[in-house]
Amino acid sequence: TNPIHIIGGGLAGSEAAWAVARAGLPAVLHEMRGVHRTDAHHTDQFAELVCSNSFRSDDPDNNAVGLLHAEMRAMGSLVMHAADAARVPAGSALAVDRDDFAGRVTAAIEAEPLIEIRREMITALPPADWDNVIIATGPLTATPLAEAIRAVTGEDQLAFFDAIAPVIHHDSIDMDVVWAQSRWDRPNENGDTKDYLNCPLDKDQYNAFVDAMIAAEKADFKDWEANTPYFDGCMPIEVMVERGRNTPRFGPMKPVGLTNPRTGRRAWAVVQLRQDNALGTLWNMVGFQTKMKHAEQVKVFRMIPGLEKAEFARLGGLHRNTFIKSPVLLDETLRLKVDPRIRFAGQITGCEGYVESAAIGIVAARFAIAERRGLVAVPPPPTTAVGALLSHITGGADAKHFQPMNVNFGLFPPLVPPPLSKDQRKPALVARARTHLAEWMAA
Ligand code: FAD
Repeated sequence: TNPIHIIGGGLAGSEAAWAVARAGLPAVLHEMRGVHRTDAHHTDQFAELVCSNSFRSDDPDNNAVGLLHAEMRAMGSLVMHAADAARVPAGSALAVDRDDFAGRVTAAIEAEPLIEIRREMITALPPADWDNVIIATGPLTATPLAEAIRAVTGEDQLAFFDAIAPVIHHDSIDMDVVWAQSRWDRPNENGDTKDYLNCPLDKDQYNAFVDAMIAAEKADFKDWEANTPYFDGCMPIEVMVERGRNTPRFGPMKPVGLTNPRTGRRAWAVVQLRQDNALGTLWNMVGFQTKMKHAEQVKVFRMIPGLEKAEFARLGGLHRNTFIKSPVLLDETLRLKVDPRIRFAGQITGCEGYVESAAIGIVAARFAIAERRGLVAVPPPPTTAVGALLSHITGGADAKHFQPMNVNFGLFPPLVPPPLSKDQRKPALVARARTHLAEWMAA
């Protein structure tokens, strides 16, 4: 049998190579570390953790990432197996000794006879005789390969930075304060004129909000990020404020073309929220990419009328991050539509985080294995944590404004019928996920 080629031996690539070998199929794992460095890795170990040593919550009953852990364990995850063995005390979180963790992943892969390891940088799209390939080269994909991907997918389809605006759970927005209206009542392609939610600020509220943004602590750029160019439309909001306290009122916070139905007037300034996923459970703050520290963002953004009780599915940021516009480029089994020999996995697909990257590595491998065996690859149901994450990547997200995302309950389809109380929501989502994962795996 032709091997399945996996490019990148990080979180996703290690999982993928392991899953292929466990299925009894040969894999070739191409990893450049050992001969080339990245700006964030320090070793040539597989699945090196570049920053924090935490896999976040390990609570499968109350937390979507904890549920994802459980699903990965059920799917035979090497990363979770190594993490459990390298665990250090961290309350309900799963944190690891990073050297022990990566050492265990590396030893397992090196000892696996079905995996051939090649220490080399892949600089172009795979040669014609590689018929089943997974690209898992991560947020720091080496530039020659990133450029090759960009050439085949198109200029706008691969980003080198993410400029993330915060994302809010819809059910935490105060609908008695905000109102739905598109600027100038401009209709969308379906004729609807109420696509945005608008939060009104009066002059005093605006000034207090601007002062809080100026005072807030910001995260430092890493040395190698310091030269980050601010692309049009992704300038951090606090940088905009520094150019003049009224600059946002002529930019993302401009109030023109919007009438607050409760006052019948135009507000002094407006924060607009735009739907972030197909389900309408998540909304992002338009133009609010920021380097403010996470705790500061929560404090500052809850000053906005209507967002006093906002729960954030993701906070804002600006990072070096290579990722593709997966909702446009990939099919539902992570294949590149223009060259279906190639699948993508890990952070380059637009998931975010160690755990999520590894999880997408497992599903990409399952699809590749099914294909090699001549079977139909069936995606996990979107009601499971891994399926919800996959749907975000391959279709659920608003393709035009696609930004990387951690797993969270906002990505899950709503319960039908809806739960009687808020307290019942998570247990019901978790129970449904467990049943559906078991059914999918059995099939
Ligand atoms: P990686 O783990 O980066 O693996 C990709 C691999 O591909 C690397 O080993 C790389 O050497 C190799 N490679 C790249 N290009 C080529 C090529 N052309 N040929 C051959 N090999 C190649 N997530 C968290 O959950 N917590 C954090 O604290 C965290 N901190 C981060 C800090 C930084 C600076 C960055 C950049 C990201 C961080 N992330 C964090 C996000 C992300 O989860 C991790 O980067 C994660 O490692 C992604 O997994 P991956 O498998 O997609 O990529």
